Amino acid sequence: MARILITSALPYINGVKHLGNLVGSQLPADVYARYMRARGHEVLFICATDEHGTPAELAAARTGETVADYCARLWGVQKALADGFRLSFDHYGRSSSPQNHRLTQHFAGRLADAGLISEVTEKQIYSPADGRFLPDRYIEGTCPNCGYPRARGDQCENCTKQLDPTDLIEPRSAISGSTDLEVRETSHLYLRQSLMRDRLRAWIDTKTDWPVLSTSIARKWLDDGEGLQDRSITRDLDWGIPVRRGDEPWPGMEGKVFYVWFDAPIEYIGATAEWADANGLGETAWRRWWREDEGAGDVTYVEFMGKDNVPFHTLSFPATILGSGEPWKLVDYIKSFNYLNYEGGKFSTSEGRGIFMDQALETLPSDTWRWWLMANVPEGSDANFTWESFQAQVNKDLADVLGNFVSRVTKFAAARFGEAVPAGGAYGPAEAAVIADLTARIAAYEGFMDAMELRKAAQELRAIWVVGNEYLQAAAPWTAIKTDEGRAAAITRFSFNLIRLYASLSRPFLPDAADAMLAALGLTDADWPTDVAAALEVLPAGQGFTVPPVLFAKIDDARAAELAARFAGRQG
Ligand SMILES: [Zn+2]
Repeated sequence: MARILITSALPYINGVKHLGNLVGSQLPADVYARYMRARGHEVLFICATDEHGTPAELAAARTGETVADYCARLWGVQKALADGFRLSFDHYGRSSSPQNHRLTQHFAGRLADAGLISEVTEKQIYSPADGRFLPDRYIEGTCPNCGYPRARGDQCENCTKQLDPTDLIEPRSAISGSTDLEVRETSHLYLRQSLMRDRLRAWIDTKTDWPVLSTSIARKWLDDGEGLQDRSITRDLDWGIPVRRGDEPWPGMEGKVFYVWFDAPIEYIGATAEWADANGLGETAWRRWWREDEGAGDVTYVEFMGKDNVPFHTLSFPATILGSGEPWKLVDYIKSFNYLNYEGGKFSTSEGRGIFMDQALETLPSDTWRWWLMANVPEGSDANFTWESFQAQVNKDLADVLGNFVSRVTKFAAARFGEAVPAGGAYGPAEAAVIADLTARIAAYEGFMDAMELRKAAQELRAIWVVGNEYLQAAAPWTAIKTDEGRAAAITRFSFNLIRLYASLSRPFLPDAADAMLAALGLTDADWPTDVAAALEVLPAGQGFTVPPVLFAKIDDARAAELAARFAGRQG
């Protein structure tokens, strides 16, 4: 039994995420976590909301809530959606937790002790009317490039030109509208990442098993002169983790908070501490996942994320860990994803284009989304959601193959033998051939899952369902029963065992359908099949069953067209 720590990239707090976000980290991480648990490994699966920074402050200002209230509410919204998609986190934490406060302050103190933090004085815009420094995106004005009147201090969203607040014509505070702005000096802490370049390169060089997508992005940032610059880790904001040097105050840093990019990845550790506290476990319970000197020496740590997050996880977070000089666990494997597009374009929050997690769950069962997203997970290249493809895969893979198999077996048996697995007859050459075929296919399926080749794993799982359908069609118990009732009983009994086997194998992808299949057989769980022949003998004659409701409803053309129109967006 192995110990596997799995983290999914942290979703930012300001709003509901779309299906492209879901398939870019949380969903594939869940499929992998469920599989590894089913194989008997000790798994800890961690995620959390990323709650600091100016977008959270601005979103709270728009709703009129305090930023703390806003984050607490949105955490609840995101947690409920994660539950709706059956994401099996052991803990869904918050980067604003007291545990993350302590850890972030601890790491900053260690980095300072190691000479990896410097203090830099810089000039920033201050608003006397607001009584605070204004971050770039809190300053609005007219774009010098295109004349757009509401350009932000970091970028004009009309012409996309990158800006400096001092470029803006007639700059004003985005909070109060005050034009009384002045330039004042302020000092910030910088993480001297440039001093870490050689250590990071040596570490990346050991990662020969990582996908090229991950290592090539890391190397580009390492070697590019711009890539690994010293970087500010503090901000003049109210909302965030107060700057302290471990347990001590940090002279000169009063009233400042850590910059969100610094504290967010530390929340992987913070959320593990939250998990221990929430379950009444002690410090040692979470430290044995993270400290190599306290039991984490045998932990395999896998991170799931979109490709845009790779630089932070290959360089910035490891710089914090390595720079601390303490034996914290570094990531062993990074599984990164390309993007999911929607009907040939991008998902757009501002234009309401594409499907968001709340809308998806209001429209169709979570298993149908899980299946399409994982069968098309953007591993090798970007993927494209179309309603045509979604309709075809739900109808063909789920309704016609898996759902139809379960329906035919249970309905036939109930009509001809009554609601118990029939006795009589014996397995013969046809069943032996299925066992041989499934043994090879399940080995292939496990190989893809172990290697995190999830798209290929989904294809193999579908092929495993097809084996059962083809067997049932050829063995034809409805014909056999006319001449040989024992033979028909054996075919039916074997098919019931296939339903149980399919529930076990499908559970990482289709947890609700797997539960429904098991419930129809009067079961709540099924072991992973390590010996296929033995697994297909488990359900005995006489075991009661019920005919389950339709597992997967088909999506007809009219419904598919209606959904495509509904999600086309305001511009569509
Ligand atoms: Zn512009």
